[in-house]
Amino acid sequence: RSKSAGRNCFTVYDEAMSAELEARNTLEGDLRDAIARCQLEVHYQPFVDALSGERRGFEALVRWRHPTRGLIPPDQFIALAEETGLIVPLGEFVLRRACADAAGWPAELMIAVNLSPIQFKEAELFDMICAALADSGLPPQRLEIEITESVLLERGSENHAFMERLKQLGVELALDDFGTGYSSLSYLTAFPFDKIKIDKSFIRNLTQQPRSSAIISSIVTLARGLDMSVTAEGVETPEEFDRLKALGVNFAQGYLFGRPHPIERILFDAPVKSSRLDAA
Ligand code: C2E
Ligand code: MG
Ligand code: MG
Ligand code: MG
Repeated sequence: RSKSAGRNCFTVYDEAMSAELEARNTLEGDLRDAIARCQLEVHYQPFVDALSGERRGFEALVRWRHPTRGLIPPDQFIALAEETGLIVPLGEFVLRRACADAAGWPAELMIAVNLSPIQFKEAELFDMICAALADSGLPPQRLEIEITESVLLERGSENHAFMERLKQLGVELALDDFGTGYSSLSYLTAFPFDKIKIDKSFIRNLTQQPRSSAIISSIVTLARGLDMSVTAEGVETPEEFDRLKALGVNFAQGYLFGRPHPIERILFDAPVKSSRLDAA
């Protein structure tokens, strides 16, 4: 009796497993098609200079326009793309699209693009970035590459060499989601970053928790000492923004200044002083 119950358990488990596998395979096939059929879209979210409030650039954020499921956010497919290697063509698509779009913007605006740790393993990555810049005509100085700390864990010396090459080209480097994951202060001196992006989880607590203020103020001090700038991510309220300005952050990004939007919905008339212009 116990034996058959055990077997049933296994059966149920197996079925659940294979259902999950099947769903995954479907999604993988769909994503492969999506890349081939250009169903991926790049949306742009502004970031502003904290002192002047002026828009300084945009971060490129990928979305999947699924034929039946609608617009799918990146946290529902980036991990799968990384596991299957599809992140390589996906990442190239995003970088090329973003460079091409940004080349048509006012020249003072930067474009920030996220790179996945898996793309870092591609030997061709450096050449691909050069080609995207050359093909779009975007000056390298207007491109910022965002990297999360997890990238740096493996293959430290190769990554360092790769980052130095990008810097020599004139591309800026930002450390994304700082304060989450395996933050190590040694990364800040070991790699040539220009900018630290403080993760939004710290900003979320800012107005309730004095401790968050202390952390942000320490990061600002540290960054200054290392000649790096600081961006606060996920700024949603004027109160948060005021607090962050007082703490000395250089740049701010978040729903307060604009959500990620498709290129058609972004306004580029005149220098934009108020972030609300593109709130649409
Ligand atoms: P990330 O690079 O840290 O991007 C910031 C995320 O925070 C975006 O989520 C953005 O929409 C969201 N966000 C911005 N302001 C606010 C705010 O005020 N409040 C809140 N709650 N959220 C805000 P999104 O677009 O869903 O992207 C999630 C993550 O997916 C990104 O985090 C990035 O790690 C990854 N990702 C997006 N596009 C790409 C891509 O082209 N390549 C790679 N490798 N990763 C990407
Ligand atoms: Mg980012
Ligand atoms: Mg981030
Ligand atoms: Mg992230």
